[in-house]
Amino acid sequence: MTTSPNDALPDPAAQAAGRHPAFDHFAVADGELQVAGRPLSAWAAEAGRTPFYLYDRSVIERRVRQLRAALPASLGLHYAVKANPFPPLLAHMAPRVDGFDVASGGELRRALEAGMDPRRISFAGPGKRQEELEQAVEAGILLHAESPREVRLLADIAARRGRPARVAVRVNPDFELKTAGMRMGGGPRPFGVDAEQVPALLDEIGRLGLGFEGFHLYAGSQNLRADALVETLQASYALARRLAEAAPSPVTHLNLGGGFGIPYFPADRPLDLAPVADALHGIAARARAELPAARLCIELGRYLVGEAGVYVARILDRKLSRGQVFLIADGGMHHHLAASGNFGQVVRRNYPVAIAGRLRADAPRETATIVGPLCTPLDILAAQADLPRAEPGDLVAVLQSGAYGASASPADFLGHPAALEMLR
Ligand SMILES: *Cc1c(COP(=O)(O)O)cnc(C)c1O
Repeated sequence: MTTSPNDALPDPAAQAAGRHPAFDHFAVADGELQVAGRPLSAWAAEAGRTPFYLYDRSVIERRVRQLRAALPASLGLHYAVKANPFPPLLAHMAPRVDGFDVASGGELRRALEAGMDPRRISFAGPGKRQEELEQAVEAGILLHAESPREVRLLADIAARRGRPARVAVRVNPDFELKTAGMRMGGGPRPFGVDAEQVPALLDEIGRLGLGFEGFHLYAGSQNLRADALVETLQASYALARRLAEAAPSPVTHLNLGGGFGIPYFPADRPLDLAPVADALHGIAARARAELPAARLCIELGRYLVGEAGVYVARILDRKLSRGQVFLIADGGMHHHLAASGNFGQVVRRNYPVAIAGRLRADAPRETATIVGPLCTPLDILAAQADLPRAEPGDLVAVLQSGAYGASASPADFLGHPAALEMLR
């Protein structure tokens, strides 16, 4: 039987796959998971080897369309490159979003190579090297300054090169993002400039004659609660509006952050976008009156690309140890640190995982632990999961793997081959 993506009807194959919302993005046909219009075994044959990451453009497309339909037309949609810097994916994103946010000179190069207009690239990160600042001025991108040192260096570089330097201030807000998976603002942080220190820095930017553009606020990542996001976006706007009074020139750029989460773990529910979009309509309307020169944007990483990616490994061995089934795969934490539970998680929980070719409702099931080939107990893809009974040769698919996968994993650890990446 075949199910179409986003089919809301209860479906036995989806049930067999665990009914995690991640499975809504992909169809199941003849008991096999379909990605980008083909069964996973066909992609494995095309790749010629496992493991690999496969990113499905149509899932990204759907997400961008959904956001464009919900958000104010005046709100810029930026992509946070660090979520997935795979060059073909960046080239795919470049014409579909309004800007790229980069976090290093390396990401800046990739953003430019992907064809993104330098006027639409911004660069944030707590420790920028002299060379990176030079690169930013040379390319004409917007620098999100995170310290007085960066502002002074930027002024020196601009003067020496005889080129204008574009600067915005990344603000460490005086509030915290509630329930964020990863907090990056509020309290003492290495990120940004504390809100209370911003007026003095704005003064210095004015005296140095830099091209001031505005503010960047980012309170944290992986938030699935619409009410918390709404509160954060509103507080971020209010703070920027207040700080704008001390600015040397009108605010033309205001990056309100993002932090929209995706469901990874069994109890996670997808983010309810409607209330967040409503709040952004309200903010956009206020900004038109209060900061009329400002172009507002949000920056999203995993929400744009996370659900479009699947990590695929092949089961090499099947072992029974003191009553427990272990499936040993040819891939693991060296390619997918996050799925192994070692990328900032406090409690290890399973990502949505499927035995890709055994999704028939009547397949016999068992409790199994899927591990990778590394000699460390940290190398786990799924612990004690309820899965169809699998055999060596079967493909394991880890869903929700389009962000913080290949580029966020210790690929050289133990010297196994790197994972291939494919965008289809
Ligand atoms: C990491 C990061 C993002 C992207 O986070 P996601 O959770 O992937 O959306 C956006 N902005 C900044 C400043 C970041 O550091």
